[in-house]
Amino acid sequence: MTTEILNGLGKRKKVFPPVGSCIYCGEREGTLGEEHIIPFGLGGNLILPKASCPKCSDITGRQVEGEVLNAHWGTYSSPRLRLNLPTRKPKKRPEQRTIKITDANGETRTVTVKASEAPLAFLGFTTEHARPGVLRGAEPSDRFTGSIWLKYDTDDVHKLAKPGENFDGVGRFSPLTYGRMICKIAHSLAVAEYGLDSFAPYLPDLILGKSNHLMQYVSAQASPEPDNHGLHNLHIGWLEKATPAYLVAYVRLFCSFGTPDYMVVVGRRRPDPAGPA
Ligand SMILES: [Zn+2]
Repeated sequence: MTTEILNGLGKRKKVFPPVGSCIYCGEREGTLGEEHIIPFGLGGNLILPKASCPKCSDITGRQVEGEVLNAHWGTYSSPRLRLNLPTRKPKKRPEQRTIKITDANGETRTVTVKASEAPLAFLGFTTEHARPGVLRGAEPSDRFTGSIWLKYDTDDVHKLAKPGENFDGVGRFSPLTYGRMICKIAHSLAVAEYGLDSFAPYLPDLILGKSNHLMQYVSAQASPEPDNHGLHNLHIGWLEKATPAYLVAYVRLFCSFGTPDYMVVVGRRRPDPAGPA
C-alpha cells in the first residue's frame, strides 16, 4: 500500500485545488462551499474548496459534525474545551461543567468544575472484526458490531473521584454518527489526494444518512501506542491486492492520546483513472 501522510494540525493551513462539484451528491450548479477535511472544531486545517452543496453541507455540518462536536454535550466536548480547540461560537463555550459521580453503593452526587478543568476524555469505538466487511466479503448490515471505547486522563479523574467511584463526565455518543464523521474525513481526504474521478465511492450514502452500513466500510482496533505525529493523523493509499484496487484511508483523531485507528474503505479504483494517482 502506498500512503500519503498528513498531519491534521499544523501551523499553516493546506488548501487543495477546488473540486467544482459536490463530493457527496455530484451537484455542479449553485454555490459550492469549502470542506474542512478534519472539522474546523477539531483544529482541522486541510481545506477542500468548492466541494459541498448547501443541502449536503447542512447534513454533514449539522447532523454529523454538530452532533459530535457540540460544545456542551457532544462526544468531543471535553478535548475541545481542555485543548482549547477553535469554535465558531466562542460566546457559547460553556464556562462550567457539571459532573455526576456515583459511588460503590450507587449513591450519586454532582460536582461543578470550571470547563477548563473538566476531565480530559476521549470517546470512539472499536470493531469486532479487524477489517471492514467489504474486504471480508460480508453482507452489508445495519448492525453495529463493536464496542464503545473511552479513555480518561487518570490524573484528572483522581482529582474528582475516589477509587471505585464512577463518573459521567463525557457527552453523548452514537457509534453511527461518529462513524459518519470518520467516513466524511476519509472521503474528503480521498477526493483531495486522488480526485473524484479516480475512484468509485462507497461512502456518500452512509455520510448523508441514506445508509447505515457502517461496518461494511469501517473497522477500528484499539491502538494503545500513542502516535506523536501531531494532534491527528491521516494516511491514505491504494490496497493493491484486489483488482481493481481498494482506496483505503486511516483516520486517527487525537492520536497522541492512544485513540483507536479507524480503517476506512473509501471506494475502488476506476478502470481508467482520469486524475493523477
Ligand atoms: Zn451535495
